Amino acid sequence: MKSQNFMKLNFPSKSANEGFARSAVATFCTQLDPTVEQINDIKTAVSEAVTNCIVHGYKDTLGIIYITATIKEDVLTIKIVDKGVGIEDIDVAMQPMYTSDPNGERAGIGFMVMQSFMDTLKVKSSLGKGTRVVMTKKIKPREQNVITT
Ligand code: ATP
Ligand code: MG
Repeated sequence: MKSQNFMKLNFPSKSANEGFARSAVATFCTQLDPTVEQINDIKTAVSEAVTNCIVHGYKDTLGIIYITATIKEDVLTIKIVDKGVGIEDIDVAMQPMYTSDPNGERAGIGFMVMQSFMDTLKVKSSLGKGTRVVMTKKIKPREQNVITT
């Protein structure tokens, strides 16, 4: 049990909470002793997933975003769930540069960013019911610095 840990975070889909969610997950994962680069990768991936819940999942409405972060051995798993509109075709949605945004404000690279900054990315969605994003990243223990004289 010592090598396992988890935390859960639920909050309304207000954009003010995006930075909080990103920092909370990053702080939780510091127990794996990640590098600054790894922390930044995790923050960016969480930020993309949470932003998607806010702008696509719940659009102009407010709903709850559910985050669970789990540590097992040296693997961090982050699950981000909304109960919003859902995605009609996940394969299409995950294509680089695809966006459903009609206003030209979005680049359609959120899923691509999550994929490249994390080790694995799985998306499950059901129209009218919501979307679940699960990402993992392995944080290998760093070499101990042995000081020899
Ligand atoms: P960017 O992330 O570059 O600002 P984007 O959000 O459109 O643009 P992705 O994050 O790659 O790009 O998402 C692709 C598409 O998948 C979105 O345009 C949207 O149609 C759909 N999508 C993503 N997440 C959700 C979600 N949580 N609920 C409903 N639809 C989603
Ligand atoms: Mg996005």
